[in-house]
Amino acid sequence: MTDSFTLRHDWSIAEIQAILDAPLMDLLWRAQQVHRQANPGYRVQLASLLSVKTGGCEEDCTYCPQSMHNSSDVTGQPELEVEPVLARARAAKQAGADRFCMGWAWREIRDGAPFEAMLSMVRGVREMGLEACVTAGMLTDAQAMRLAEAGLTAYNHNLDTSPEHYDRIITTRTYEERLETLQRVRRAGVTLCCGGIIGMGESDRDRASMLQVLATIDPHPESVPINALVAVEGTPLEAQTPVEPLELVRMVATARILMPHSRVRLSAGREQLSQEAQILCLQAGADSIFYGETLLTTGNPAVEADKALLAAAGVQASWQAQPETHACN
Ligand code: SF4
Repeated sequence: MTDSFTLRHDWSIAEIQAILDAPLMDLLWRAQQVHRQANPGYRVQLASLLSVKTGGCEEDCTYCPQSMHNSSDVTGQPELEVEPVLARARAAKQAGADRFCMGWAWREIRDGAPFEAMLSMVRGVREMGLEACVTAGMLTDAQAMRLAEAGLTAYNHNLDTSPEHYDRIITTRTYEERLETLQRVRRAGVTLCCGGIIGMGESDRDRASMLQVLATIDPHPESVPINALVAVEGTPLEAQTPVEPLELVRMVATARILMPHSRVRLSAGREQLSQEAQILCLQAGADSIFYGETLLTTGNPAVEADKALLAAAGVQASWQAQPETHACN
């Protein structure tokens, strides 16, 4: 069988924009061909996300309710300790997740007791047989190496938006610092989870430009979360108009075409999509969905709704597949 795609790392913004703007049926057809060839079996990974340290973040990300610069900030929530986090990971595994992502609302990883606790969480999650992902801001080479030694599967650090639009979204950390963090993660041998958000007032060209940065990383990030802004009251972006579901479908399909083997994760904003729009995203090549924190009680309706979603789409969750193969392993 001839490859329906060529693995490239030299995409131009104009080429990407042409893909994003293609007639929807052509775009979906192309994305389907790439996806079915690169990721046979149509399996969707379920990832569970837990906020370990919530709120009070020094960064000024305009979309984020956890920034201390925004009136939405929830301060005073205690940081979770190791055992409760591992209990949540166990519950996530029982509910069908096979990747457990932990978040710290930090500008950068803090050495000392908080970092040692993070390492214990990573070890514990890996011992359960789950993939472990951490998002905690910038890190040093030494911290990246210690996370790798603890068995960390992936480190999440999103681009958020295009280099051109970036200054309107964040001013406390540069785009260059983001790219350096990604390089540190890669040097330590940990896989990259890196994507962005649409619906933050960016242009179509900005979307293509962000995808270009991702698609010219060599090798491509193993995991690419595509988020739609959830406009939260008290953030500077609270009045943003929600993105049209088909815009998200287009982003997913284009990401799939550009980065055939990456896990394209349908992330924030999924709650606002109908089941049909989510199925279109799966058809466009999304092969992971995030369960939220509300996952973690038995019989949670969100879990049941997601199982119904996968059943309606006729796709398997990755834990149902034997043997397991992950693009990011
Ligand atoms: S770095 Fe993360 S937690 Fe902090 S404000 Fe930005 S998005 Fe929110």
